[in-house]
Amino acid sequence: MRKTCRTCGGSKPLNAFRHDARRDDGRATQCRACAQADGAAYREANLERVRERERVNAAAYRANHPNRRRMIARESARRMRRKRAALARRGVA
Ligand SMILES: [Zn+2]
Repeated sequence: MRKTCRTCGGSKPLNAFRHDARRDDGRATQCRACAQADGAAYREANLERVRERERVNAAAYRANHPNRRRMIARESARRMRRKRAALARRGVA
């Protein structure tokens, strides 16, 4: 199945379009490349607003994940232990 992008007019496979549950065919009307270009242009034109939103979202994320650093450190240590054990089994380390 192919679909025509409303922005560039290109005929592309469906997976070249982002998902959009509101559309009948479940895909956006704009191809990914055009959506990405528009997104970059929006960011450029609204840099202050975008930065402020990112700042607010990051602060909210940190507030909602107080133990994030500890969780990451713990997971990393677990991975390293597993990796060392696997290497030792193969007689590498
Ligand atoms: Zn396009």
